[in-house]
Amino acid sequence: MNFGRLVWEKRTKEEIEGFAEEYVKFVDFAKTERLAIEYVESALKKAGFLPLEKAESLKDVVGVYLINRGKSLIAIKGNVENGINLIAAHVDAPRLDLRPYPFFEDNGYALAETHYYGGVKKYQWFNIPLALVGVVVKDNGEKVNICIGCDEKDPVFVLPDLLPHLDKEDKKVSEQFRADKMNVVLGSVPLKDEKNDPVKKHVLKILKERYGIDEEDFVSADLELVPAFKPRVVGIDESFIGAYGQDDRVCAYQALRAFLDAETVPGGKAVGLLLLDREEIGSEGDAGAQARFYIAFLRKVVARSGLGNEETILDDIISNSTAISADVTALYDPSFSDVHDKLNVAKPGYGVAIVKYTGRGGKSGASEAHAELVAKVRGILNKHGISWQTSLLGKVDVGGGGTVAKFLAKEGFNTIDMGPGLLSMHSPFELISKADLYETYLAFKVLLENL
Ligand code: MN
Ligand code: MN
Repeated sequence: MNFGRLVWEKRTKEEIEGFAEEYVKFVDFAKTERLAIEYVESALKKAGFLPLEKAESLKDVVGVYLINRGKSLIAIKGNVENGINLIAAHVDAPRLDLRPYPFFEDNGYALAETHYYGGVKKYQWFNIPLALVGVVVKDNGEKVNICIGCDEKDPVFVLPDLLPHLDKEDKKVSEQFRADKMNVVLGSVPLKDEKNDPVKKHVLKILKERYGIDEEDFVSADLELVPAFKPRVVGIDESFIGAYGQDDRVCAYQALRAFLDAETVPGGKAVGLLLLDREEIGSEGDAGAQARFYIAFLRKVVARSGLGNEETILDDIISNSTAISADVTALYDPSFSDVHDKLNVAKPGYGVAIVKYTGRGGKSGASEAHAELVAKVRGILNKHGISWQTSLLGKVDVGGGGTVAKFLAKEGFNTIDMGPGLLSMHSPFELISKADLYETYLAFKVLLENL
């Protein structure tokens, strides 16, 4: 259900397009979680933020931040004494990773094995141009950045699908597109006078010459195959942006902009930005929402704010804090309308979606926002003329999904899920309405300032 007017009727085209233009640059650059964090760190630095370890006192600094493992981040500004309005999004996205020892040769081809990450429909990743992006770390600690396929002059990679002539069995997609068939083609030219695996050796020789890396170095690498195509404007009326990785880098960008633009006032709450890795696989590990790095950071912020060292002080601050779990939701898909609950699904152009709960089945795994918090959120949005709607991920008992909300809630934050709708979520080319893109940023900003 949508509340408030269609965004296109209340905002100017210039406002909407201006925001979209800047966003497209970000989503094109931020092909991996590391690159997303790199972008955000440079924006924070430009705005005058300091790494926490460089700020002995928090007086007279714009704000402080911490980068965790290069893959997640927390930033804060304002006085934490009265609580924090925190906005959290994730910067990982579904993709194909290279396996640690990936290279093999078969009948004149050099190929590499992959391992999918997150909830992908495997068939969508065949026969599209892919870029190889990430880092290789040598055993002396030297880090080599890789971005093959990022420039238009670069070669790209592909997982070849079977030609229709030899594919007459009409197998189920889950049987036809199996993980062990997701091998990426690297080359076909043999190394001269080489008897064993000459094509693979030739590929390795090129990698050695260009990047100074050996086959063994790939064991210590974070390398991701991601769509090589650029973000594009979609539709005759140019109302959508199509791009890879918008779940959830769109919210990471909206949250960053809202966080930087939000004003803090003396006696008010602090505002925080939390960007997390690993959401797509359950928020595991030391860079995901289940990790403790951001709580440790907040404890230090409390101590350096002169509020004392006792653990209960942070507990009290968190219990006065609100977290927006900023993540995308399913946008109504007219061609697959039967999976949606038409009363509770986001439509394009109607603004930010409030998702009261996620989870599956009988709300399993959900962190449901309390009625009081939903009331406060819609009150603020209504007062500031922000268009919003309600959305849930599908009909009851049709699929479902989770976000970082339940992990923030577990720490004691009063937590709500919100975000723009995406069409073709988790595909290599996800669509967002430009109007929702802009309206969600406005919603995040007024909520950071007023919750
Ligand atoms: Mn997400
Ligand atoms: Mn997702």
